[in-house]
Amino acid sequence: MSGIELVTLVSSIASAFSTSASVFQTWRAKRKAKNLPEKAAAESLRLEVCLSTSGPLVQAKYDRDFRYFGSRFSSGDDIARSQLQVQLICIQQSVIMLIQNALLSNIFDISYKNLLNTADSVRQSSITALAEQYQRLAATQPVRPALIAPITTGNLVDRSKPDFNISHLYCGIALLLQQTSGPMPLRFRIGLPCAICGSVLPVGPFEFTKETSSGGYIRLQITNRFMAKCHLAAKDMGFGCVLCERIGKGITTFQNQPRFLEHIRDDHGFLEYAGENDIS
Ligand SMILES: [Zn+2]
Ligand SMILES: [Zn+2]
Repeated sequence: MSGIELVTLVSSIASAFSTSASVFQTWRAKRKAKNLPEKAAAESLRLEVCLSTSGPLVQAKYDRDFRYFGSRFSSGDDIARSQLQVQLICIQQSVIMLIQNALLSNIFDISYKNLLNTADSVRQSSITALAEQYQRLAATQPVRPALIAPITTGNLVDRSKPDFNISHLYCGIALLLQQTSGPMPLRFRIGLPCAICGSVLPVGPFEFTKETSSGGYIRLQITNRFMAKCHLAAKDMGFGCVLCERIGKGITTFQNQPRFLEHIRDDHGFLEYAGENDIS
C-alpha cells in the first residue's frame, strides 16, 4: 500500500476534476472554432456541470468528516486510501487523458455519455469511500471513561438547602428559554453579552457524533439556544445541565464551557436527548 495520505488523494481527485473541466472547455472551444454543428448540447452541459462541481463536493465531504476525527481521518485507513487511489487513476486516465487526446488529435466526436458516467461514478465512489471510512472510524472510537463512570465532572447543586431558588441559579433569560419554545435573543447569536447577567455565550452550534440506541452513529448539534437556556445567573458563572435535571440526576453545573460540552456529549446517552429540541 502506498504511503500517500488520504488528504492528498482527496485534493488530487478534486484538482483532477477541475483539470478535466478546463480541458473539456478548451476542447469545446476548439470544436466551436471549427464551426462544427453543435452535438448533444444537453449532455455536453451536464458533463461540464458534473466536471466542475464534483471536485468541491468530494472535498466538502472530506472537510466535514475531518472535523470529527482530525488526523485519524486525514491519514486514512488502507481501505479508503486504496479505494481513492483507484478513483484518482480512473479520473486521470478515463476522463482527463481521453479529452486531452481528443484535443491534441483533433478528434471532435467524443461520447459525452461515457465521460459523464465515468465522472459521476468517480464522484459517487469517492464520497462513498469517505463515508465508509467515517463509519469504520466511528465504530472504533474508544469508549470514553465518562460513558461508564458516574458524573463527576460537574458540581451537583444542593437543592435541599432552604435558601435554594432556581431563579437565583439560572439567568432569567435562561429560565424563560427553558419554559417556552420562543427564539433566542439575537444578541447571543452575534456574541453580545447577555442583557441580564452580562455573560458572553459561546457562538455555536457545536457538532458531535453519538452512538444511537441501535448501534449506529448520528451527528448532532448542540445549538446556541441550548447554551443560552443553560447559562447561570451570574456573569461567566457557567452552565447548568438541564438534561441531568430532566432525568432526575439533579442539577450539575460547569464553570468551564468545554467541560460542559463534553459532559453533554459523553455523560448523556443518546436516548437522554429525546425531547430536547435544542439538541438535534
Ligand atoms: Zn444571562
Ligand atoms: Zn447533564
